[in-house]
Formats: sequence, C-alpha cells, structure tokens
Amino acid sequence: MDFSPGISYFFGQLSKAFLSPGSHISLLSLFSALGIAFIVLAVRRYKKGRPIRLKTLFRALFPKRVVLSKSSLADVGYFYFNVFVFGIIFGWALLSYDTLSRSIADLLTNLLGAMPPAPLPAFVSRSIITIMLFLAYELGYWLNHYLSHRIPFLWEFHKVHHSATSLTPLTNFRVHPIYMCIFINILAISMGMANGIGDYLLGQPASQYGLSETNIILVFFIYLYVHLQHSQLWISFTGWLGRLLMSPAHHQIHHSRDPIHFNKNLGSCLAVWDWMFGTLYIPAAEREVLEFGVEPDREHAHTIRGELIAPFVRAALLIKERFERRPAPPALPTPDQDPVFIERA
Ligand SMILES: [Zn+2]
Ligand SMILES: [Zn+2]
Repeated sequence: MDFSPGISYFFGQLSKAFLSPGSHISLLSLFSALGIAFIVLAVRRYKKGRPIRLKTLFRALFPKRVVLSKSSLADVGYFYFNVFVFGIIFGWALLSYDTLSRSIADLLTNLLGAMPPAPLPAFVSRSIITIMLFLAYELGYWLNHYLSHRIPFLWEFHKVHHSATSLTPLTNFRVHPIYMCIFINILAISMGMANGIGDYLLGQPASQYGLSETNIILVFFIYLYVHLQHSQLWISFTGWLGRLLMSPAHHQIHHSRDPIHFNKNLGSCLAVWDWMFGTLYIPAAEREVLEFGVEPDREHAHTIRGELIAPFVRAALLIKERFERRPAPPALPTPDQDPVFIERA
C-alpha cells in the first residue's frame, strides 16, 4: 500500500498552516504574539516595581490550569480536524468570489455605463482595493457572527466555539465545519461585492496587497493581537481606540458567561461594525473577572460527540419543533374587549 500521497498531504497542510507567513496560525505570527505578550507583562511588572524573571512571565502566560485543561486539549483536537480533515471541505465555497465580483462589475457597467480607468498610480489603486477588501472581510465576519448568535439553528453550531472554558490561540480553530461553510460563503458575497464595486469605480481590475494570498491589513492584525484575543492576557483598548479596534479584552468579553456580555463584540480585528450596529461593549482598562463557556458542565462537553455530532442533532430538533408547533390558542380578551368586564365597569 502506498502511503506517500497521505504523508505528503499531511506535511503540505502542516507547512501551509505554520510556515506560510500569511496563514492565520503561522509560527511567525505566534512568535510575534508571544513577544508582544512578554513585553506587556514585563512593562506591567516593571511599573509595579516587581522583578522581571523569564520563568515568572512564562508561568503567567502559560498557567498549568489552562494548558492542561480539558477545554485546551479539545482545542488541539479541533486544530487537527480543521487543518487535516476539514481542510478539504473549506475549499467548498458554494458561491464563487470571482464570479460574483465580475457579475457586480458587469451589472454596474450595464446600469451606470463604463467608467474610464482612474488616473491613479498602481500602488494607490491597489491600496484602495486592499482597504475595501479588508473592510468587506470584517463586515462579512461581523454579519456571519451576528447571525450565528441570533438564529437558534445557527447558534447550535457556533456554540461549539463558546463552549471553551479556557482560551488559547488554538481556540480560534474550535469551530464547527457548518459554521465555517456558512462563514466562507458570506465572505464570498461581501468580498466579491466589494471587489466588483472597486473594479468598477477604478475602471479596471486591481489586485490587493497580500501575504500568501491573505490581505496584508488582516495579516498585520494577526501578527499584532488576533492570537491574544484567545488568551488569558487582559489587553484592553478603551475610549476612541476601543470603538475602532477589537482588543484582546473585547473578545474575552465576547466569551463571558455573564448575560450583560451576551451577543456583544462580534467583530474580528475592528470594533467599528459593532459600534455602528449597537453590539459594542468596551471593556474596562483593568481586568474584569470573567467566566468563559456555555453549558460547560454538560455531558460530553469538549468531546467529538458533544461538539461535532450533537449540534446536528440539536439543530434538527429545533427544526422539527418549529414544524410541529401547534397553532397558539386564541388570545384571552383584554379587559376593554371583555363584555363581562365592560358590564362591570
Ligand atoms: Zn460568538
Ligand atoms: Zn472566540
């Protein structure tokens, strides 16, 4: 039996995940996050006049109770599944970004007439399209996340991410494949539309700046703080910066079990869409005491059965319930409609 295709697939996926500089989990970006975390902790200790020892910093960043928790171990399993098993499914976007982009540009040309090529240097056109696509990615992310929280059927699949009781950068991979499929298709729509509108307005196609095909602005945020959003480190942006950027503390609030935090901070790198649509919660500058997870004590939490298969069953039950729901009994008359009440009055 020839195992070489399997082995080369395994190493191909592994190197795509860790060695490709634009990957969401590249080693370079992980080291960058680690460096920033060390600097933040060291500065905080320095300000408090405490000694700065590497061992203490390391222990603060990787507490045993987090690293060895059931939740973190489940995250490793999710990482494995998403990179090596569902990596195949992720390419299955039902909607084609390119087709949608071309259709939008053609539609605008038919409706409004062709635009002459904009007299801009290539780097300006490329910068404009890079910013447009980044904003479209963020809007698509926010919309998918909003729907996942608001529609009970979709929440069953997104709940998997929220069942994490401790946060590590691998929690990013704790997502159900159904959630990912919907996310990718919503992204194809938002980014395809933005690219089509951009191409039309610029009068010619322009390509974004990227690193291994990932938008360069998104890569910048991945290196800066996206990994730290799933961590124990409280880095909070408050004031005007807290309205613009989704700091690590913003996302930790999103995972909180406190009802006042439910359905808040749904953005990825930016907070602007949350600010615009009324779902923003700016975290306090000092650490807020938070508990993470939904139904963390339920049976089969952090297992394949509980996190991969059970959402299908629960979502199917929700649909069944909806179809089987009997018509509601007629509403009781209000006092002003009830003849007995009126007679008594
Ligand atoms: Zn969420
Ligand atoms: Zn999260």
